[in-house]
Amino acid sequence: MANDLFNSFMTGPDENGRFGDFGGRFVSETLMPLILELQAEYDKAKTDDSFWAEMDDLWEHYVGRPSPLYHAERLTEELGGAKIYMKRDELNHTGAHKINNVLGQIILARRMGKKRIIAETGAGQHGVATATVCAKFGLKCVVYMGAHDVERQAPNVFRMRLLGAEIIPVTSGRGTLKDAMNDALRDWVTNVRDTFYCIGTVAGPHPYPAMVRDFQSIIGKEVRTQMERAEGRLPDTLIAAIGGGSNAMGLFYPFLDDKEVNIIGVEAGGKGVNAKMEHCASLTGGRPGVLHGNRTYLLQDDDGQILEGFSISAGLDYPGIGPEHAWLHDIGRAKYVSITDVEALAAFQKCCELEGIIPALEPSHALAHVLKIAPTLPKDHIICMNMCGRGDKDIFTVAKALGFEMGEFA
Ligand SMILES: *Cc1c(COP(=O)(O)O)cnc(C)c1O
Repeated sequence: MANDLFNSFMTGPDENGRFGDFGGRFVSETLMPLILELQAEYDKAKTDDSFWAEMDDLWEHYVGRPSPLYHAERLTEELGGAKIYMKRDELNHTGAHKINNVLGQIILARRMGKKRIIAETGAGQHGVATATVCAKFGLKCVVYMGAHDVERQAPNVFRMRLLGAEIIPVTSGRGTLKDAMNDALRDWVTNVRDTFYCIGTVAGPHPYPAMVRDFQSIIGKEVRTQMERAEGRLPDTLIAAIGGGSNAMGLFYPFLDDKEVNIIGVEAGGKGVNAKMEHCASLTGGRPGVLHGNRTYLLQDDDGQILEGFSISAGLDYPGIGPEHAWLHDIGRAKYVSITDVEALAAFQKCCELEGIIPALEPSHALAHVLKIAPTLPKDHIICMNMCGRGDKDIFTVAKALGFEMGEFA
């Protein structure tokens, strides 16, 4: 299948940005020329060796790539089944995978002569990555953030300020990530000439979902090479957590045409995928609709109102999912499951205790699914999960969930 273009899963999106029934470019007439200009510039950069040479140089010397592929020996032993590997993207500069993509978009912005970068952020991770790369290149950085998130994510807000970014708390709508994204789009239309909009996941109008996927695919490309070296073959199962879906798409994409490789995306199940919608599982518990310029599965009520979702992990509470995942789900190439807060917390603790790695709560969801399936699989089955972020940012949330007062440790 890998050599048969007519059966490839790697050809999407089409020229209109469609992955099957999903994706596209649902934007106003004022936004359309901006989107088309971006697409033309990205198409040029994509086949330009000097663009990728600059990326490779910064990935190596600024981000710290390649990130290691690590055999989690004690976890493997404890579970008594499949052999478990972790792709250590939590070791990247700024502590997660987001910088892989931000670097690509900002190098593109520089080629386009844009001096002002805008971004939206929920938990603040994408905002921190964007502020970081803007500081490195001396670019003005403006970050839109829901007013409620500004309060909840004080440490990341301060980080962004230290890095020189301007934070704009968004009070329109309900002051959430969705509203911050809408305000960022409005800013872009108003300041077309000097401004570049840097999106943090595989969402938004075409070409963003494909462009962000291409930048994050460095994760899966490295895994192919590293697994070949470690095991002399491809992994049997890939597992990654899904907010909007960028770290997962980055791991999955280079393996889509290897049909013997199982692909599993893990959504945040919050308190359980129930009728009260106290979760963020857009695929498992949502319906197709249009948001942020693309058609995909969304958390919505019966009237089509977008719901906020609920998860212990702030980084997973995007109300949609990247359109390529919606397509992979519909055609059955990838499988999507959900993990509850309680299960993710247990996996978080196990990872700390058995591997000496404090994971972010997002990849703890992926790890929780590994804990579920590894014991049922033979010892020669190889699982690779994406450890896409470190947990330093989450220790206060975890302490609270486990019923500790921070002062008790003094
Ligand atoms: C932002 C974030 C996520 C969710 O975003 P994706 O686009 O789904 O990858 C997951 N993990 C970490 C550590 C994050 O910072």
